[in-house]
Amino acid sequence: MLSVFCCPSRYTQGKNATDNLGQEMATLGLKGPALIVAGKTAIKILAEAWRRTLSQADISYNVHTFGGECSLPEIERVKVSAQACGARVIIAAGGGKALDTGRAAAADMDLPAVNCPTIASSDAPCSALSVIYTEEGVFQQYRFYRKNPDLVLVDTAVIARSPARLLVAGMGDALATLFEARTCVEGHVKNMRGGGSTQSALALAELCYRTLLADGTAALRAVEAQAVTPALERLVEANTLLSGLGFESSGLAAAHAIHNGLTVAQATHGFFHGEKVAFGTLVQLVMEGRPRAVIEEVLRFSTDVGLPVTLAQVGLAQIPAAVLAGISARAAAQGETIHNEPFEVRPDMVADAILAADAAGRAFRSETSSKSHR
Ligand SMILES: [Zn+2]
Repeated sequence: MLSVFCCPSRYTQGKNATDNLGQEMATLGLKGPALIVAGKTAIKILAEAWRRTLSQADISYNVHTFGGECSLPEIERVKVSAQACGARVIIAAGGGKALDTGRAAAADMDLPAVNCPTIASSDAPCSALSVIYTEEGVFQQYRFYRKNPDLVLVDTAVIARSPARLLVAGMGDALATLFEARTCVEGHVKNMRGGGSTQSALALAELCYRTLLADGTAALRAVEAQAVTPALERLVEANTLLSGLGFESSGLAAAHAIHNGLTVAQATHGFFHGEKVAFGTLVQLVMEGRPRAVIEEVLRFSTDVGLPVTLAQVGLAQIPAAVLAGISARAAAQGETIHNEPFEVRPDMVADAILAADAAGRAFRSETSSKSHR
């Protein structure tokens, strides 16, 4: 098996980075007309900066208001908009779903893709794949593309003004990276690009986890104050770049499959991808029988920054047996990344691990709250 490492062609991050969007695109030889795919909030925040930076670089553009879900019909709508304006590049701005949609349309039309995440809530921006949902928000499939984005531009001044809960969700997505990467490396399974992992990818995944532990809380405080600090810069890099390269070049395992299972339950739809992945990480560690110290470190980190460690915290305070069975069956479906685990995974094992992780999370929370009341 060949080792394969993949990453975007260019990654640019910093305070007010949007002011350099046009120049960065010009440097990479990306010419207009451009179609910008962006959610309403992104348009409100960035419209003025786009006007300045893209006109300076002589890039004309149209804006397609993102419909809210990365679904096959929405991807088709973006392609129609892009054809209508003769787009030669697609810029996507907003959250993970808007970026996933932009990349999907760009890949279908063989156009360069630029991603400008306005929140650091997932590791989607750097990847060469999209997660497709139904229009009702149920996980449908992964779609893989020939190449990673041509440019990922992260404006930390914009991220600093985003809701704190979204940054925390990004930490949840990043929390899974090392544990899923390690499982894939230890099991010698293929990464998301069909190759073996590299030392580089695993090292980035390790740095990702260390950065979360070191800077997670400080970065959260910075966003609550809408301030850009070195801790926030490092944490945003962990959520976006390190987690993105780590997962794609090393691979996914149980944590993301558990997430996909959870999306079957309507009650979890109010929770973000990264929040469900954080709980999925705990389930993976329990299922793998990892040492108590490892599980406690994850429980402590999650509790400190406000990531879910119990079923109740992802909307499943009551979990009927049929719902648990549905979640477990989806998580262990054929083709799921849970089968990168080094043992055979059956739905009943998943259900047991979910219940045990929930119990560990509840016990940890009641211990820590009784300590703080003393
Ligand atoms: Zn993810």
